[in-house]
Amino acid sequence: MRQAGRIVAAILDLLRRRIEPGITTGELDAITVRELSGYGAVSSFKGYRGFPAHLCVSVNDELVHGIPGERVLCEGDIVSLDMGANVHGFHGDAALTVGVGKISPQAEALLQATEGARTAGIASARSGAHLSDISAAIQSFVEARGFSVVREYVGHGIGREMHEEPQIPNFGPRGQGPVLQKGMALALEPMVNIGGWQTKVGSDGWTVTTADGSLCAHFEHTIAITDGEPEILTRLD
Ligand code: MG
Repeated sequence: MRQAGRIVAAILDLLRRRIEPGITTGELDAITVRELSGYGAVSSFKGYRGFPAHLCVSVNDELVHGIPGERVLCEGDIVSLDMGANVHGFHGDAALTVGVGKISPQAEALLQATEGARTAGIASARSGAHLSDISAAIQSFVEARGFSVVREYVGHGIGREMHEEPQIPNFGPRGQGPVLQKGMALALEPMVNIGGWQTKVGSDGWTVTTADGSLCAHFEHTIAITDGEPEILTRLD
């Protein structure tokens, strides 16, 4: 899983640096295909429940599961990249939202709140804590900044399958759910909207957008529970 995580981190970092006005979302998918192949890994997403691409690219009010294609990224857009890699039968899964060129102060605040919520969730992921301590930490971090957390999509356990038990909501009270133990691997992924938390699925059957058309962001890491600080598997060293 460390190897899968490192591959995901490296590819997302490369994609992040390639994002600029004028690039198409399909070009980002092509980069992902080439890089995965170079690492001897395969996309966790391609073919998952029929998903047609190797990477999810979701722009502005698109939250998750956007299908890369002809769309051209423009100055001021925010774009969420979500990718998973499978190597030797183990998965890594991570996401980030980046600005294209100069973005609005409100969009910048959204990105900082979502990334910060991920950090707060990770800090709560300690051996002996309850699963929902992560959920509560994420929710309180986001709502203190005036944004809302999505309810319909959640984090998850990860390992030999991309999506394993338990589900990890980004909201809820502390002290519920399973007790975290060393060796568990979890994908924490706050999804945050500037407006209301409601979402809808587009006509392609995949692309999830905010119901009110507000901007949204998504940050995810795969982590492992240890005796101390959680180990972030999808971070570049
Ligand atoms: Mg995930």
